[in-house]
Amino acid sequence: MIIVGLTGGIGSGKTTVAKEFEALGVPVYIADAEAKNLMNKSKIIKRKLIQLFGDNAYINNKLNKQFIADIIFNNKDYLQKMNTIIHPRVAKHFEKWMLKQDASYVIKEVAILFENGGHKACDYIITVTAPKDLRIKRLLIRDNTTKDKIEAIMNNQWTDEEKIKYSQYIIENSDLEIAKNQVVDIHNDILKRI
Ligand code: ATP
Repeated sequence: MIIVGLTGGIGSGKTTVAKEFEALGVPVYIADAEAKNLMNKSKIIKRKLIQLFGDNAYINNKLNKQFIADIIFNNKDYLQKMNTIIHPRVAKHFEKWMLKQDASYVIKEVAILFENGGHKACDYIITVTAPKDLRIKRLLIRDNTTKDKIEAIMNNQWTDEEKIKYSQYIIENSDLEIAKNQVVDIHNDILKRI
């Protein structure tokens, strides 16, 4: 089965675009959401994260996302250790999920695709872009966050220019109607190629 990676910087609109592919009948796997789900459900992941971060990793049996995010943001060693716990399990979960899909291709949305080498497992890559200011504006509405925090995350991600170099398709998501049309064109092009 063909795997199409869907990526883009924070707040570019990856999930919004993924939903448009879903509306066309394409199976969509949102890696971050599945990872979060596994962190809440899998006993082994829970045990390992508590070993790594301490009891505060969970509050009332729910992942303490902010606590962990604050630690890993400032400490690459912790980030790497956490990735070692999560990534192989999400990869296995994705493999199992893929076996259940009846489609000629699937979309795998991954925020940090290139940064972790995940692009190598994709047949095609779509990068979603939008101007930084617009992304910040959208995220300030969506999340309880600050401009500084958003910019710090942006500075930790590859730039759009770097991502575009390795992508077969770009979706410019300043305007949803235009982005929707791009989704239809890309969908048709992928179907033609496979
Ligand atoms: P993250 O990097 O945090 O995973 P994302 O790239 O998946 O984010 P979305 O969650 O899809 O981005 O979009 C961010 C916010 O911007 C959401 O509130 C979404 O509704 C809004 N948004 C996305 N695309 C558009 C658009 N074209 N027009 C208006 N609002 C949009």
